[in-house]
Amino acid sequence: MSSLWTRCNNCQRILYKEDILDNHSVCPACAFHFRLSASERLAMLYDDGQFDVLDHEIRPLDPLKFVDNQPYDKRLADNQKKTSLPEAVVNGAGKMGGIRVVISALDFAFMGGSMGSVVGEKIARAAERALAEKAPFIIVSCSGGARMQEGALSLMQMAKTSAALGRLERAGLPFFSILADPTTGGVTASFAMLGNLNIAEPNALIGFAGPRVIEQTIKEKLPKGFQRTEFLLKHGMIDDVVPRKNLRSYIIRALRLYLNKSA
Ligand SMILES: [Zn+2]
Repeated sequence: MSSLWTRCNNCQRILYKEDILDNHSVCPACAFHFRLSASERLAMLYDDGQFDVLDHEIRPLDPLKFVDNQPYDKRLADNQKKTSLPEAVVNGAGKMGGIRVVISALDFAFMGGSMGSVVGEKIARAAERALAEKAPFIIVSCSGGARMQEGALSLMQMAKTSAALGRLERAGLPFFSILADPTTGGVTASFAMLGNLNIAEPNALIGFAGPRVIEQTIKEKLPKGFQRTEFLLKHGMIDDVVPRKNLRSYIIRALRLYLNKSA
């Protein structure tokens, strides 16, 4: 198959790649939302796709000398090479609808978008930048949760990021959380659910433990669609489901509303 074409994993149709890209990386046949890289996400949200990358120089270490089926430092190096990113989050600053906004976007391609010390530090710095500039803050989550290779140091990021968001809250600055497929574990259990608005893309998997673990623990079959966006909206876990093509305009409208600005 030529690289001009690709198969949608959801509806199995063979599609012209350009048609998917033109449609915000959403399948034109079945509306399946393909995963975006952090850079694609930031470009899609900011005005004219223009933004400055912040905190790019902070790089992860391997303080525990952790080895699973390969050493963590080797895993980091491989992921850095694969994604051309130093870590699993990209911080951006730019404008949305003319409003200065700081955005952190997680990149699933880098170790499942997992949160280690550097991801937590970068998110905290982005929140502090927003606070200093009196700008709204947005996080786009796409993550398997805390990074086990940094053990408790990863878990501490849940408190650190939450505390940084608390400072924004006290300053009266809006924080919006956008949940993309998947958002799980320690990310769901910290910043991803702390937004003034928590909004998700259609059919995203959102939860703490995965469905298999829950089924094995409670020894019951889970209902259909459990932990998917629409189920969570119905049960009051999130505020709205927003298709990707409407996401930018939805957020700009919400920003104006929160900042009491007219269109
Ligand atoms: Zn499809």
